[in-house]
Amino acid sequence: MFIDNEELRVAADTIRQAARERIAPLAASIDATGQLNPEVIDLLWDLGLMTAVFPPQYGGAEEHHGTLLCIGVEEIARHCASSALMLIIQAVGSFPIIHGARPELLDRVMTRMVKNRELAAYLVSEPGAGSDVASIRTTAVRDGDAYVLSGTKCFSTNGPVASVYTVLARTSGNGRDGLSFFLVERDTPGLKIGKIEKKMGQKGSQTSEVHLDAVRIPAENLLGEENKGFRIAMKDFDMSRPAVAAQALGIAEGAFEQMENYSRERKTFGRPLCDHQMIQQIIADSATLIEASRGLIYRAAALYDQGKRNTKLASMSKVFASDAAMKITTDAIQVFGGYGYMQDYPVERMFRDAKLTQIFEGANQIQRLVIAREIRNENS
Ligand SMILES: Cc1cc2nc3c(=O)[nH]c(=O)nc-3n(C[C@H](O)[C@H](O)[C@H](O)COP(=O)(O)OP(=O)(O)OC[C@H]3O[C@@H](n4cnc5c(N)ncnc54)[C@H](O)[C@@H]3O)c2cc1C
Repeated sequence: MFIDNEELRVAADTIRQAARERIAPLAASIDATGQLNPEVIDLLWDLGLMTAVFPPQYGGAEEHHGTLLCIGVEEIARHCASSALMLIIQAVGSFPIIHGARPELLDRVMTRMVKNRELAAYLVSEPGAGSDVASIRTTAVRDGDAYVLSGTKCFSTNGPVASVYTVLARTSGNGRDGLSFFLVERDTPGLKIGKIEKKMGQKGSQTSEVHLDAVRIPAENLLGEENKGFRIAMKDFDMSRPAVAAQALGIAEGAFEQMENYSRERKTFGRPLCDHQMIQQIIADSATLIEASRGLIYRAAALYDQGKRNTKLASMSKVFASDAAMKITTDAIQVFGGYGYMQDYPVERMFRDAKLTQIFEGANQIQRLVIAREIRNENS
């Protein structure tokens, strides 16, 4: 954490303690079973983290939404990246509702989500459209007072367990300017859960295909304006990319703590590992990357909270922190030697969990394109 605000510091301390006492002991079994523990989900709701970015009347914070999301994600991800992912997807999936739903729809859905502790999922990616969102083929066709949605979405985090889906679909043939967001409820006829993926890491979150087979929804479930969905998706990224970076930071901090402790205990050639200069270099470089990640992430989040453009910093934080997490978790395994390769120590899980942070919410190559584009626009 890197915050000059007493309330946020208290929030971070509370979350840190809860994560250490109540999530850390479950992290290995969540990974091994591939099931998120309901106790963890309840804890995240009890801490107010599942509604952190909701409007205040539905349990959200009065201010600092982006920063609070990053704090929650970072503190939980130190111990369990899968659990931290629940906060990210809840915020990402709810974003088009919060920022696009008409007042009646917003009130009905948010009230129910909070009361029943319902989960949101975000259906943007398709088998033929990941980085290239403009290639989305799922269609939404207006039919009287309804839209009819047809297509297949993939890699949906919480797809099998969500109650509420925000779906980006094509409403005109106009590339990325022909896309619109819709709210689809779980029990709508035609919405079917497809293949559940077997993943490398972050296994406690369920990821699946979702089929939309002529799903008929009321026209008022359009979120925002027709054909303006791409803009909502981009604004969502401004919040979510620092949060994914915070997840990477939390994973890196967890791995760092493990390797630092181990380097004091393990002896080779009659001395603890931490007395060997090449191990000291790993410790020093890892700590430096962690500090630099923290600076970028909380600057990006603060700009978001102030309503200022943060697209460049959001992408920078995501690239830097996720690449740092991959390097730090790899080095942590090296410090543990053969033991690091075994599942008995958490660094093996952290290494697998870190990889996803370089891929989702826009793969790191795409982040670099965004950074370069933002710089070009600033200077033109
Ligand atoms: C576990 C998991 C959970 C996910 N959860 C969700 C979710 O909840 N909702 C959702 O909508 N999506 C989700 N995704 C999808 C994720 O956002 C995409 O996987 C990601 O955007 C990359 O898209 P892709 O997999 O189609 O890769 P592609 O777009 O096929 O890209 C493949 C590779 O090529 C690179 N590349 C692509 N274009 C360029 C270019 N122009 N220049 C240079 N390099 C390029 C990419 O960076 C990537 O490394 C999830 C993915 C995973 C793995």
